[in-house]
Amino acid sequence: MDDCLFCKIIRGEIPSFKIFEDDHAYAFLDINPFGRGHTLVVPKFHADQLFRLPPEELAGVMPAVQRVATLLRNRLRCDGMALMQLNGACAGQTVNHVHFHLIPRYEGQPAGWQPLAPVPAAQELAALRDEILGR
Ligand code: AMP
Ligand code: ZN
Repeated sequence: MDDCLFCKIIRGEIPSFKIFEDDHAYAFLDINPFGRGHTLVVPKFHADQLFRLPPEELAGVMPAVQRVATLLRNRLRCDGMALMQLNGACAGQTVNHVHFHLIPRYEGQPAGWQPLAPVPAAQELAALRDEILGR
């Protein structure tokens, strides 16, 4: 898909704070995070919604979802992990390329379902990426 935002990120045409990549999946920090470490895991195969993602592509991306969730938990020492996937504008979907939100959660902190304010600066996200990757 030439004009899909996440396809452009996967191809490297738009910069991202990359966390993980394999043959089937690409993961990067969400720039409007609901919580510290909020990461998106996307299949490299373009499908707008879960209903149109071929099952074999879904099977290809889910190990990356688990692997990135584990990486976030280990590096950020979070207590829990939310996994969210939205389909359709009425569900809150804004980017029409299937994606899985991983949102680290912490004891004693409210589990908000909206972007943190203020939105983190690029420098902060770069530092967080490095922390997650153990750089
Ligand atoms: P959804 O509402 O489920 O479609 O989620 C789309 C997500 O993509 C939102 O959480 C946005 O903050 C995030 N997003 C949009 N553009 C970018 C981008 N260029 N880099 C990283 N995350 C993005
Ligand atoms: Zn796409």
